[in-house]
Amino acid sequence: MTTTQDLDFPRGLSEEPEPTPLALLLLGRSADPLSERGVECPGDLPAPSDPDLVERARAAKERLGERVFVLGHHYQRDEVIQFADVTGDSFKLARDAAARPQAEFIVFCGVHFMAESADILTSGDQQVILPDLAAGCSMADMATAEQVAECWDVLTEAGAAGATVPVSYMNSSADIKAFTGAHGGTICTSSNAKRALEWAFQQGEKVLFLPDQHLGRNTAVRDMGLSLDDCVVYNPHKPGGGLTAEQLRAAKMILWRGHCSVHGRFSLDSVNDVRERIPGVNVLVHPECKHEVVSAADHVGSTEYIIKALDAAPAGSAWAIGTELNLVRRLAKAHPDKQIVFLDKTVCFCSTMNRIDLPHLVWALESLADGTVVNRIEVDKETEANAKLALERMLALP
Ligand code: SF4
Repeated sequence: MTTTQDLDFPRGLSEEPEPTPLALLLLGRSADPLSERGVECPGDLPAPSDPDLVERARAAKERLGERVFVLGHHYQRDEVIQFADVTGDSFKLARDAAARPQAEFIVFCGVHFMAESADILTSGDQQVILPDLAAGCSMADMATAEQVAECWDVLTEAGAAGATVPVSYMNSSADIKAFTGAHGGTICTSSNAKRALEWAFQQGEKVLFLPDQHLGRNTAVRDMGLSLDDCVVYNPHKPGGGLTAEQLRAAKMILWRGHCSVHGRFSLDSVNDVRERIPGVNVLVHPECKHEVVSAADHVGSTEYIIKALDAAPAGSAWAIGTELNLVRRLAKAHPDKQIVFLDKTVCFCSTMNRIDLPHLVWALESLADGTVVNRIEVDKETEANAKLALERMLALP
């Protein structure tokens, strides 16, 4: 039997990292002046060392009662997750929020695009709050509305736009979801990407997949039987995406050159290395990982799939998990009868997710309880309408 102390995490990872300035920045306990969204916390952000933080969060939540509903994404820190009314992936959380119309405030412990999705799916009376506005997603930021509009122009000039259906991953900004809705496309999650692609190929001959090239490629090749040669990568930083008109016309999958900075770090070496260290280990990775990693893994699936797979795994089995570290650590704690290790040897927190910490949560809850709405995320009506179209197409997928 393996205890959490025995786990094969990189040295020191079972503890909070040392509070060096860099670690504080990476863990979201400091301000990054270059961050795209800024780190505005008007009023006093409690000090991380405040011994009363847990009590203050509890008291503020109690004062708010049914008026507040706290959502916690699986990749959030334990100190935040303990105050979540529900946990889940981004889509589940947005739906959970919509199913709680009595909650005036939805405090989303996750990242910016998730809060936007919650705002799109909840009623106009509900206000969605992101405790730290700097909690963005590097993948979502890799596809801007301007870049995607330019890409569509390139496709149009190549004579390929008419045959192309956009499919956008949930991990995209509201603007990209709106573009997708306005151009006849759908949203997908890592759980239903195959169904979304099947639907899209019934509507057109090719798919523009945004913004995660790995999920797009893995789903097309692994689940749909397309070849790697059917896929091209559109680089928004190169003229014409770095592709010829002929390449665009010939491709079945046009993959946006975006990736997750967490899942993109796992390598074939990490898989080979863990197999050597733990004979018989089951390698289970998220489909946002590179194609070579997914191909070498034993199991591939979304966050919810990973959680269920470990719930169902027999006692004594060994697992190397390729997803965000906060979740892997939590799963290891929840299953002390199984050996659950992190696939990589280096730190692999999602640094922007980690920006939501207890001081920011306390600040947000106390501000709301005192009658001040802070860090509200609000999607404009036109964007919301088009984004909703794309989300509704996803909900209608067979
Ligand atoms: S884990 Fe990856 S996709 Fe998820 S929020 Fe972090 S950077 Fe974005």
